[in-house]
Amino acid sequence: MAGGTIYDIVIIGAGPAGLTAALYAARAKRRTLVLEKAVPGGQVAITEFIENYPGFVDGIGGAELGDVMKRQAERFDAEFVFDEVTGLDPHGAVKTVHALEGAYQGRTVILATGAEHRRLGVPGEEQYSGRGVSYCATCDGAFFDGKDIVVVGGGDSALQEGDFLTRFARRLNIVHRRDTLRAERILQERAFGNPKISFVWNSAVEEIVGNGAVTGIKLRNLKTDQVEVLPTDAVFPFVGMVPNTDFLKGAVELDAQGYVKVFSEKLETSAEGVWAAGDLRPNVPRQAVTAAADGCIAALAADEYLAHHGA
Ligand code: NAP
Repeated sequence: MAGGTIYDIVIIGAGPAGLTAALYAARAKRRTLVLEKAVPGGQVAITEFIENYPGFVDGIGGAELGDVMKRQAERFDAEFVFDEVTGLDPHGAVKTVHALEGAYQGRTVILATGAEHRRLGVPGEEQYSGRGVSYCATCDGAFFDGKDIVVVGGGDSALQEGDFLTRFARRLNIVHRRDTLRAERILQERAFGNPKISFVWNSAVEEIVGNGAVTGIKLRNLKTDQVEVLPTDAVFPFVGMVPNTDFLKGAVELDAQGYVKVFSEKLETSAEGVWAAGDLRPNVPRQAVTAAADGCIAALAADEYLAHHGA
């Protein structure tokens, strides 16, 4: 029970949303606990370099941004515990957050567990995960120095991570199911101008093939229906995100895709005293800066709620 402490605000997740919520909650002098299962920064921490977070003229490393945001919140006495949350009981004046190492109690809770990269869902993907299939270019790119790499997807993640992976790749193919990209223009221009990058258009992934480790990716051309295996040493799928909200089923209302529904501009969820901030909300831009803004809004709302309830 985390020593029987009842926190004013328990924040689940330490990405930009959770860390900003922690900063505002702690500065409001609320006893604040942040629960995180991995490293501070969330998706940001596994992004090599962030160029569009305001305030950093020359950009900043993703892991460094996560770390400085955490230290900024700690400076105002936010507490951090590394534990994996498994459930939430949002009923009553004191809510209980269940985690692998114990349970934590708070008068309010801010949900900020974000989203993670969607799996392709094809044969071979799980089998070769960690043996050529990876969802983290920053973590695993260097293993493929001088090798051939395939990135799947046509959004910001595919192009940004693809660009980073060309530091290592001998050749990098970006496989996309259409012939137009949805990524930011600046990322498109960089990719088209990078001599190591080629595009494989109108192609769907049917299977990841290998022999102990990845050796190729089986693609179906959606225009010609032709199927062929493109040889490669690594496959990095960047085909969108899924919210990290399994632990919230039955606790707060989720939409059909599992995103947490909010019912006001203050980011209130269906449970009283529980707010949602960042990428686990539907239809948000999924930028570090918008997640941070959400964290601020949720923390201010939680502080106001506590004040109204005499805390
Ligand atoms: P995304 O924008 O949803 O793009 C996913 C891409 O994968 C799309 O091109 C989509 O194709 C393709 N795709 C989806 N399912 C597929 C499947 N089963 N097989 C093959 N391809 C599939 O996802 P994202 O690129 O991960 O970005 C997520 C969010 O984070 C976005 O809001 C993005 O703007 C943001 N983000 C921003 C930055 C940045 O600011 N630099 C960096 C990374 C991410 P279609 O185009 O045909 O739908």
